[in-house]
Amino acid sequence: MYQRNFQDEFSWFSNPLDWRPIERLILLAALVMLAPILFGGALAFALAFAPEYINRGVGYGLLTLYATQFVVLSVYLLQARYRRAFHSDYPALENALIILFMASVMTTGFLTGTHLSNGLLTLFLGINIASALADVGKVRLAYIAGFTLTVVFTVAGDIYHLWPHAPLFQRSPMLIDGQPVSGWLAIQIITGSVLLMLLGVCVAAVRRWVERESLYREMSIIDGLTRLTNRRALLERGEKELARAQRMPTGATSGFGCIMLDLDHFKEINDTWGHHAGDEVLVTVGDILMNCARRYDEVGRFGGEEFVILLPGVTLDTALAIAERIRGKIALTDIRANDYPIPVTASLGVAVYPASGINNLNDLLKAADKALYRAKQAGRNRVEAMTDAA
Ligand code: GH3
Ligand code: MG
Ligand code: MG
Repeated sequence: MYQRNFQDEFSWFSNPLDWRPIERLILLAALVMLAPILFGGALAFALAFAPEYINRGVGYGLLTLYATQFVVLSVYLLQARYRRAFHSDYPALENALIILFMASVMTTGFLTGTHLSNGLLTLFLGINIASALADVGKVRLAYIAGFTLTVVFTVAGDIYHLWPHAPLFQRSPMLIDGQPVSGWLAIQIITGSVLLMLLGVCVAAVRRWVERESLYREMSIIDGLTRLTNRRALLERGEKELARAQRMPTGATSGFGCIMLDLDHFKEINDTWGHHAGDEVLVTVGDILMNCARRYDEVGRFGGEEFVILLPGVTLDTALAIAERIRGKIALTDIRANDYPIPVTASLGVAVYPASGINNLNDLLKAADKALYRAKQAGRNRVEAMTDAA
């Protein structure tokens, strides 16, 4: 069923990151096949029309490698065409792709003496794309292997001269005046076009990463129901603000305040009006809190029907006044379920740093919670301040 729907909706013109693994691997295979097709073509051309530049043995060896790669990938692609209907993944193709890509890029780079420039760039671009489209663990392994082999090639060939540099060439593709022969220029243009296509896929992948990252960030700091700051982000902000307050010179007039708010008899609201109405109440209370808060205050949902408002730069009196304003606003707001008014009230506890016994955020939250508990004990729908012995 799922399969059917997916096949109906699938489009080769959408972002590859939205595809299933098997379609991504087909795209990767098509990109990887560009190398043997284009470079193999260029090499065959050179062997036919400018053989004096090419070491024949090495040239035919490289052509054989390209041909093998082309045949192996073609067989895999043909199988993938049928496999798509029944499977969403194709690990064997993934392994083959990574190995063949590495083999062709590294061999080409080494034989043409461009392993430190074009070779390395193609390798790492390929690895970037593959990280987005294939298994990251395998790609990491390939990355390490590619890097190690490049170092070995460079040290053995170019520093210790264990073999000739650029063994594919019988003659340098550079003329005496440093200009490349036109065939070499054509190969550079082909390399450039392959890199350009790889870059296009890289850009699409990175764009999607950025979108996902911002979505993930939002989900990790915002409460899904009330759209307020969630508990984790609230605690993080609290730690920062408290540290800032602690750095202030002693005797500064302002402190760091915390209001803890708990809705009264919320279980009854749920039981009487239903869970959905309860949710509506939570959202409305969240809006009221946001409207009562100042721009630099942090309003968060601490848990079920419990909210915390962090107030940087307040005295206990200011914090109490803000809490009282919030309490009054909640009690007076006409909150309805199916057009029937729901009586909603809240109890609030207030604590402010600096005070004796408050050394960290946990102490501050505990002091506010104790005050909240006293507000509940004293009959609810009221504000209580922390006592000195917090
Ligand atoms: P008190 O005045 O002593 O605070 O009484 P209370 O009924 O508010 O306290 P209690 O802690 O017993 O009940 C809290 C209720 O809040 C219980 C739980 O089902 C409800 N609740 C927690 N999270 C949600 C939520 O996301 N949506 C809804 N609708 N209800 C929730
Ligand atoms: Mg509660
Ligand atoms: Mg409650």
